[in-house]
Amino acid sequence: MQNLLHNLNPEQLAAVTLPAQPALILAGAGSGKTRVLTTRIAWLIQTGQVSPAGILAVTFTNKAAKEMLTRLSAMLPINTRGMWIGTFHGLCNRLLRAHYRDAALPQTFQILDTQDQLSAIKRLLKSLNVDDEKYPPRNLMYFINNAKEQGLRAQYVEANDDYNRRFVELYAAYENQCQREGVVDFAELLLRTYELLSRNEPLRRHYQSRFRHILVDEFQDTNDLQYKWLKLMAGEHGAVFAVGDDDQSIYAFRGANVGNMAAFEREFHVQNLIKLEQNYRSHGHILDAANVLIANNSKRLGKNLRTDAGHGEPVRIYEASSDIQEANWVIEESKSLIAEGASRSEIAILYRSNAQSRVIEHALFTAGIPYRVYGGQRFFERAEIKHAIAYLQLMDNPHNDSAFLRVVNFPTRGIGARSIEQLQDAARQYGISLYAAVPYISGKAGSSLGAFVKLIEGARFETQHLSLPEMVQIVLETSGLIAHYQNEKEGADRIENLEQLVSAATLFVNEEGFGMDAPALAGPKAQTSAGAAIVSEDGVEIIDADTPLNEVMSPLSAFLSHASLEAGDNQAQAGQDALQLMTVHSAKGLEFDAVFITGLEEGLFPHENSEKADGGVEEERRLMYVAITRAKKRLYMSFSQTRMLHGQTRYNMKSRFFDELPEESLKWLSPKVQHHWFGNQRRSAWDEVADFEANKVAQKFTKQDIGWRIGETVFHQKFGEGVIVNIEGGGTNARANINFGRHGMKLLDLGIAKLEKV
Ligand code: ATP
Ligand code: MG
Repeated sequence: MQNLLHNLNPEQLAAVTLPAQPALILAGAGSGKTRVLTTRIAWLIQTGQVSPAGILAVTFTNKAAKEMLTRLSAMLPINTRGMWIGTFHGLCNRLLRAHYRDAALPQTFQILDTQDQLSAIKRLLKSLNVDDEKYPPRNLMYFINNAKEQGLRAQYVEANDDYNRRFVELYAAYENQCQREGVVDFAELLLRTYELLSRNEPLRRHYQSRFRHILVDEFQDTNDLQYKWLKLMAGEHGAVFAVGDDDQSIYAFRGANVGNMAAFEREFHVQNLIKLEQNYRSHGHILDAANVLIANNSKRLGKNLRTDAGHGEPVRIYEASSDIQEANWVIEESKSLIAEGASRSEIAILYRSNAQSRVIEHALFTAGIPYRVYGGQRFFERAEIKHAIAYLQLMDNPHNDSAFLRVVNFPTRGIGARSIEQLQDAARQYGISLYAAVPYISGKAGSSLGAFVKLIEGARFETQHLSLPEMVQIVLETSGLIAHYQNEKEGADRIENLEQLVSAATLFVNEEGFGMDAPALAGPKAQTSAGAAIVSEDGVEIIDADTPLNEVMSPLSAFLSHASLEAGDNQAQAGQDALQLMTVHSAKGLEFDAVFITGLEEGLFPHENSEKADGGVEEERRLMYVAITRAKKRLYMSFSQTRMLHGQTRYNMKSRFFDELPEESLKWLSPKVQHHWFGNQRRSAWDEVADFEANKVAQKFTKQDIGWRIGETVFHQKFGEGVIVNIEGGGTNARANINFGRHGMKLLDLGIAKLEKV
């Protein structure tokens, strides 16, 4: 026990050893919140206050949950596999699997990820002949998820006008479609569990008395439904131990409500509020940068962070002329860090949005440096993987119409749009799934559809005694997917990914304890196993969801939920010592020796949409705070004058966040070589030399000498009229930021751009 506690400071120790009462640990980044939470679990178990089964811990990502389990098994001599540590979605999935009947779900219900959900909505709109310009599918998706996150079923959503009434009708129709197909979306996982527990009293009482301790990491990012869910789970005892940082609340756009912290304090009558102020992660300059930046936000609960680590290195800032040059600089700097002995996995390259990673990936690939991308296109989201998964889904639950439509004619087997339409009509007429409607189709269409059904059933029959990896292997062959990609020009990569799916299945059955030989389709045991049954006071039999996953689900069902819920990093890259690439959002909670924050430009970071949203810029600033505080020893920031994004060259100004950082903690680096790109016109090396000479002369010039001044209105051939907002440099090197209104802000070289005075 001494071992567990001796590395904690007095505030941390107090937090870890609090009595079983509601508690809020409010503290800044790197102050040991996650460490306190993990240590508390270990301490509670070690001191015999609770058995491992009495702990419910919620983390924000699967990765964080795994890390917590690893740390716990290092601290305690127990098997952590059965412990209830996971994300809200993961935990709800587990509960719904165990209580699928009470939750009115089929045993093999499947989970829609966001992409699946959107296509299910598109299909719904089409089947109802709804104008998808008037009712855009994406908006409907937000509408539905938003309602669910407030705990509202369609009949309880208030609509004040015809347009919204239509949305509500479509929400109801969507719910019917999902129920018919046996699928649930992410928000549904939570809502369904919430409803299950609030309606079923014996079940609720059972879990409330079972989970004596509920611990929540990253509490600032819980949404309203998650908060209600926690309240329900906590019941009377209310021993919820919440840790969070209001300055790191970065999911408001997804419904997270930082107000939950205040609500928690009030509604749970929190007596134990502990602040941690010592930062153990970052060196001084990095921490100063974070503190000074976040002080620009107005709505804060207020707390300080200090470090004993000394100033360390200043934050290095680089201005690139293009995104390509920026990527090359990142690589050069990373190489020198590695040469100094840094391990690659301790270097992170962060960006605001996924689209920015392409250029960096390309440069890393060319330089032959191993790297790993988190988020972005997840392994399980790749088209070929989705196809293979769809075959497996149909073998598990043939009524999943999304899966059916995805592969009924992929690879092509002569089933045309007309046949599908006929089938959809029949399914609608009888209120059944597409798969079930096949026998109602006659003629040529009927026989080719029938052949597809035979294919699925044949695969099921053929693999009924085989393990999951063997099943996946066979499905890749019999579906025709492998043959299809063999004939495709660039199919080799896809085949490689498909083979990775077999490895992923192998890894999965091992990790989840199914055993390598367990038949993939083997039915779950728990529903009948007497040992797991609990009879409540009023005689209702309850199956406790404590039963490990491998007893409530077949290996196939479990693997399919894993595919929807897991972040699914590129399996091929797993385990290597590689540079870490990710968005700032996915870096939450993590730490690295060295961090690069790239693309720090107006419109990109802060993101252009943030200007429109209420409090949007403050949220971006918190995001920047999260980014900065990931770094332990070295922090680099970069921005670029030009950037190709979504097929367009953008001319951006550097981010306003630079003006909010403490100058004494920064070191501005000047670019080594300048390649200016303006439109298609590339400047030659001679231009650079000429510029250099001119620049020397230009040092003497004042802004007026260039012939332009700030505030002046100008005309540009392509962008029309604009106003000069800023002028930098001088002579032939002078450039101006010009606001062209509709065309946005552009940075133009005054020597090149043919501007006219207005
Ligand atoms: P974030 O807000 O980013 O999630 P956090 O508050 O959860 O940060 P942790 O990740 O728990 O912080 O801790 C940050 C780092 O400081 C970790 O490397 C952790 O091991 C270390 N640390 C925490 N407390 C101590 C301590 N008392 N002594 C030494 N190191 C510590
Ligand atoms: Mg943490």
